[in-house]
Formats: sequence, structure tokens, C-alpha cells
Amino acid sequence: MTTSAPSEKRRHLEPGRLVLASHNTGKLREIRELLEPYGLETVSAAELGLPEPVEDGDSFIANAEIKARYVAEKTGSVALADDSGLCVEALDQAPGIYSARWAGEPRDFDMAMERVHRELEAKGADASKRAHFVCALSLCWPDGHVENFEGHVWGELIWPPRGERGFGYDPMFVADGHTQSFAEIGAEAKKAISHRSDAFKQLLAACIG
Ligand code: IMP
Repeated sequence: MTTSAPSEKRRHLEPGRLVLASHNTGKLREIRELLEPYGLETVSAAELGLPEPVEDGDSFIANAEIKARYVAEKTGSVALADDSGLCVEALDQAPGIYSARWAGEPRDFDMAMERVHRELEAKGADASKRAHFVCALSLCWPDGHVENFEGHVWGELIWPPRGERGFGYDPMFVADGHTQSFAEIGAEAKKAISHRSDAFKQLLAACIG
């Protein structure tokens, strides 16, 4: 039987084609950089012309698994999906799994950041600015076997947003121990501390290393 619970013995990922179950160019760029040293041939679901499945899970892991399963079934290749988002303490962890949806269609993250700022302001001047990013990774084989991982990075929200790099909510997030936002620190520095690299470290140790 297939299960999404962590397996007792992790399945190893053999060299070969890995389909990245994402259409988000910011995420794809970061995932490809993280996988570069491991000799995997990556292609994205968007490049294969696959549509995005409906993400109706109630957690980051559940949504990552929906995307990975869909792509593994459609392509017959191992698929890797990332579901991630920003959780704001004073907003009961919103936008959370709805982080992309807060940006509307077509995606407008200036608008999404404004909404986070507005809703925080409505909580009053004393409201906590604590927030964290979550990244769930789901690796799914064509036989339905799944390995899941979750990474985090904690920090504070700032206003106004700062920086031109990164993507999504990066300009309004400053990680603990840093003074620059995720959109100011640059790709290498973000890679060292991000929720995505935290999840990848776990995946690499369990399934690739
Ligand atoms: P989804 O995982 O495709 O549902 O989208 C998650 C959304 O969360 C993205 O569109 C981004 O807005 C946001 N997000 C996820 N990871 C990051 C990140 O590293 N920096 C900034 N925003 C992120």
C-alpha cells in the first residue's frame, strides 16, 4: 500500500530524469540550483506542457504530494513538488497554504504583501511581526511511492518591502540574525538559510546522499 507517512527506510533516488512539478519560475530556479551538483536531469511540468492540478490539500505536505503524484502519474518519471508559503504569527499563520492565492490571478505579489501589511496593521501597533516560511517537498515515484520533507526559516516582517532579488514575499521578510531582506541578500545567501534549502538538506541526506 502507498503511504504518505515518512517511510522507515527512505527510497534512494537513482540518477536520471526528474520532473519538477512546478510552474513557478522563482521556485524552479532555486530548485535547479540546489540539485545542480547531483547529476539529475531536470525538466519542469510547464516545459512538458502539463497543467497544474487543483491543490485542495489542507497542509503544505498534502499539496506538495498532490502535485508530485499527478506529475509522476502523467509522465511515468520520478516527480518532485514543492509547496511553500509564508506563515504570519499574528494572522493565525495566514496566508500559509494560500500564499500564492493571496496574489490573485495573474499573480501580483506587491498586492499580496500589501494585504499582509494591511491585515497586520489592523491587529494594532503591538502585533507581533514574527513570521516563517515553510517548504514541503514531495518526491513521488511512478509506482506511487512517496517521500515527504518539510523545511522552515524564521524571521520578522518589515514594511516597506526592500530589495529587487528573489520572488514572492521575499522583499518583506528578514531572517533571524540578518538585517537584509530575502530580496536583498542574494541567491547564495538565501540558499544557505532558506526553508527550501532546509527541506532539500533533509531530502538529499535521505534519498540522494
Ligand atoms: P505554491 O507553493 O505554488 O502554492 O506557492 C507558494 C507561494 O508562497 C509562492 O507563490 C510564493 O509567493 C510564496 N513563497 C514560497 N516560497 C517563497 C520564497 O522562498 N520566497 C518568497 N515567497 C515564497
